[in-house]
Amino acid sequence: MIISIKPNVSQEDIDKLISDLEKLGVKVDRSQGATQTVLGLVGDTTVINDETVRANRHVDKVIRVQEPYKRVNRIFHPCDTVLDFQCGSHKAKIGGGSFAVIAGPCSVESREQVIAIAEDVKKAGAAFLRGGAFKPRTSPYAFQGMGGAGLDILLEAKKACGLPIVTEVMEISQIELFNDVDLIQVGARNMQNFNLLKELGKTRIPILLKRGIASTMTELLMAAEYIMAGGNDKIVLCERGIRGFDNFTRNILDLAIVPMLKKKTHLPVIVDPSHATGYSWMVPAMSKAALAAGADGIMVEVHNDPEHALCDGEQSLMPNAFAEMMATLRKYAEIENKNI
Ligand code: PEP
Ligand code: MN
Repeated sequence: MIISIKPNVSQEDIDKLISDLEKLGVKVDRSQGATQTVLGLVGDTTVINDETVRANRHVDKVIRVQEPYKRVNRIFHPCDTVLDFQCGSHKAKIGGGSFAVIAGPCSVESREQVIAIAEDVKKAGAAFLRGGAFKPRTSPYAFQGMGGAGLDILLEAKKACGLPIVTEVMEISQIELFNDVDLIQVGARNMQNFNLLKELGKTRIPILLKRGIASTMTELLMAAEYIMAGGNDKIVLCERGIRGFDNFTRNILDLAIVPMLKKKTHLPVIVDPSHATGYSWMVPAMSKAALAAGADGIMVEVHNDPEHALCDGEQSLMPNAFAEMMATLRKYAEIENKNI
């Protein structure tokens, strides 16, 4: 249930209304815009009589929310969520008119590899460095990632190049290692690992939540709701391609979810064209398309020796191709009124 408050109602009167509602056993989230205050009620709202609330002289409208997701729902929070990051003097933003580019190798393979790629992507204008230390692999015989040692390398690269880092957490016991990670990724395979989502809800570190391999939009939003229900409202959603009947690309990039998500939720939305297509040569075209579709950014894989990459070489751009793509994206971003 959503209650929108009339303009110019005092904080005291709003507090009184909230406390009366909470006495009925629901939880009230307040969203304060420049001109509008919206109260979002979660819990068993059947105990509330709409007419009684409507009769309150400070109440403008009462709306019953149909969707199962509440806190991530744009109706609950009409303004866009914007996440700000700072790493030394480097500032980055996701949402709020920026087009954030996250770039780096699929996996951390060595210190030299990560530092070299970090410098290349930074020079080309990436806002974040990515790299997997804990890797979810389809085959148990494939490279499983460097684990904790890989995380240390990423943290060193963060210090050396000054870019905030994005890396994937696979299980609850790893979370304590992620205190200095700027944006914790939940991969497609873990999107519905509800226990992991609940634990991440207890942290205050921003979460990059990737869409599951065959998850609906509502399932993605409900996964984000788990994190937000725990108290962590710093979430970025990521479309990374879904399963379909055709396999001419690794996955099917469902770009139509971008404008739909922007309509349904206040959370920022980015696109991963690398995992979606599986081919580096398709990444520039799909990155431009993501920007045009209204995405708040992209996450792309970059490797300085894709032929020998331990994971996802075929979809990884060489640093020079990445720099070229960035130059083109800057022109497109100008048309879309976004900052790269
Ligand atoms: C990744 O980003 O490296 C990754 C494993 O992605 P996904 O979870 O989308 O497959
Ligand atoms: Mn990968």
